[in-house]
Amino acid sequence: MKKNLLIIVFAMLAAAMFTSCGNSSSKEKQSTKKEVAKVEYTCPMHPEVVSDKPGDCPKCGMALVEKK
Ligand SMILES: [Zn+2]
Repeated sequence: MKKNLLIIVFAMLAAAMFTSCGNSSSKEKQSTKKEVAKVEYTCPMHPEVVSDKPGDCPKCGMALVEKK
């Protein structure tokens, strides 16, 4: 009984450490900041068409896609 509890506590601790390491919230914040800072939209057919907001390509009318 006591041994089982110890194992469970250890497993939870290990899981918590693993989660905080692999899924760090600061990492998420960083990527969000990056996206907000610079998201460009471009036409798949016309790379020269770049817009800072979603819309349609002025040349072919296709929906602009997020540039990566
Ligand atoms: Zn286009």
